[in-house]
Amino acid sequence: MPGRLLYHTKSVCPRCLRAVPAALLEDGGAVYMEKGCPEHGSFRCLVWEDTSEAYLAWLRRGGLEPGQLPASEAEAEALPGSFDARAARQPASAALMTTNACGLDCPVCFTRRRGEAPRQPGLDECAERLRAFRQRAGEGALLELCGGEPTERRDICELAALASGLGFDFIQLNTNGLRLAESPELCARLRESGVTTVYLGFDGLSEGPYLAKYGRPLLEAKQRAVENSIAAGLAVVLACCVLPGGNEGELGAVVDYARRHMPGVRGVYFQPASWFGIYPAGAQARRITIPGLIRRLTGQHPDISERDFSPGHYEHPQCSFNACYMLDRRGRLCALTGPDTRPEPGVERLRATLRRSWLPSKSPLLTVGGMAFQDAWNIDLLRLGRCSIQIIGEDGAGIPLCAKYLSSSGGDRLLPGID
Ligand code: SF4
Ligand SMILES: [Zn+2]
Repeated sequence: MPGRLLYHTKSVCPRCLRAVPAALLEDGGAVYMEKGCPEHGSFRCLVWEDTSEAYLAWLRRGGLEPGQLPASEAEAEALPGSFDARAARQPASAALMTTNACGLDCPVCFTRRRGEAPRQPGLDECAERLRAFRQRAGEGALLELCGGEPTERRDICELAALASGLGFDFIQLNTNGLRLAESPELCARLRESGVTTVYLGFDGLSEGPYLAKYGRPLLEAKQRAVENSIAAGLAVVLACCVLPGGNEGELGAVVDYARRHMPGVRGVYFQPASWFGIYPAGAQARRITIPGLIRRLTGQHPDISERDFSPGHYEHPQCSFNACYMLDRRGRLCALTGPDTRPEPGVERLRATLRRSWLPSKSPLLTVGGMAFQDAWNIDLLRLGRCSIQIIGEDGAGIPLCAKYLSSSGGDRLLPGID
C-alpha cells in the first residue's frame, strides 16, 4: 500500500458488494480509498483532491476528530452497522419514492435501473408510510417526493395534499421540471397542495450538459420550469449534477443564473456524479470530489471563494459542503459564511436551517452547497453511520440514500426495489 495511511474503515467490493476492509491514504497530494476483495482483487478510488492535511482539517471542522478514527483493520472491523442496515440517525430530510416511471430515458440516471418492473404505490400505501415515518422521525421532519419522476403520477397534487394534511410543512418535489415547464397551472396546483420547494435538475446554461445527461436539449424547458415555479410561489433549488468532462465548466454560470433569479431561486446544490444506476461503462474512473468542485466553482464566479464553505456537521463532513450569500445593493453575492462559521449541531437545528434556506421567502439569501453521494467504489461505513438524507422504507424507517441506490459494477443492487 504505497502512500501515507490515514485511517481504516469498511467498504464494499464494487464487483460483488461484499463488505471488505478499506484504508484511506494520501498519495501524491490527494486522498484515496484502497480496498481488496478475496475474489475480485484490489481497488483504488480518489476521495479527496487535496492533501491529507487539508482533508483532516476539513474533517475536524465538521466535528470529526481524526485521532478517534480506526487506526487498524481490527478496529475498523469492530465498527457498528452494516451496509444494508436501517439508518442509525434521524434524517434531516427523507424521500418518499412515489413512482419509478419517468418520461425520459436518460443515458445517465442514478435512481432507475433498466428493465425494472413498474412501481407506483397507491395513496393509501403512501399515507401509511408517511404516518409511520412521521412517528419515527418526529414532527420537524422534512419530506421529499422523489421518483423516477414524481410528476408522472396523475395524483401528485393529491399526494402532496395528503402529506400536507399529515402535518408536513416542508415538501420538496424532486423533478426534471418538464411538466412544470409545460404547465403553469400544474405549478399553481402543486403549491396549493402543499409543495413548498422544487428541487430541479439544472445542469448548466448551454445544451451540452443536457445532451450528455438526458440525451436531448432541455435548456429552454428548464428555464421555463424555473419561471413557472417562481410565478406559482414555489421556492426553487437548482440541483446541478456535475459530470466530469461534461458540465464542470458551467458551475459559475449556474450560480449566476440563480443570483439573477433570487429570491425565487433559493439555492444551488451541486452533486458530483456518483456511479450507481445507469451510467456509461468505465465512467467511474473519472471523479470530482468536494475540494475539486469548490475549486472549479470559485474559479468560475467572482463572488465566490473557497473560504466561504464549511462541511456539514450532522452528516459526515466528507458528505457535504455549504455556504450562504446575501445579495448586496450592487447585485453581488456577499458571503455570510466563512472559516469561522460553526455549523449547528443536531438534527433539529439542521432541519431549521433547511427550512430557513429552502422554504419560499422574499429574503435576499442564496445557499450554495452540495453533497458527494457515495457509490460502490468509495462507500465508507463511517459515512453511512451519520447519514442525514434517507429513503423512507416500508415501515417508515429511513434507509441511507447511498445504501439504497448502491449498485455493483454489473448493476446489481444491495437493496433491490425502488423503496
Ligand atoms: S446520502 Fe450518502 S452522501 Fe448524503 S449524508 Fe447520506 S451517506 Fe452521506
Ligand atoms: Zn468481490
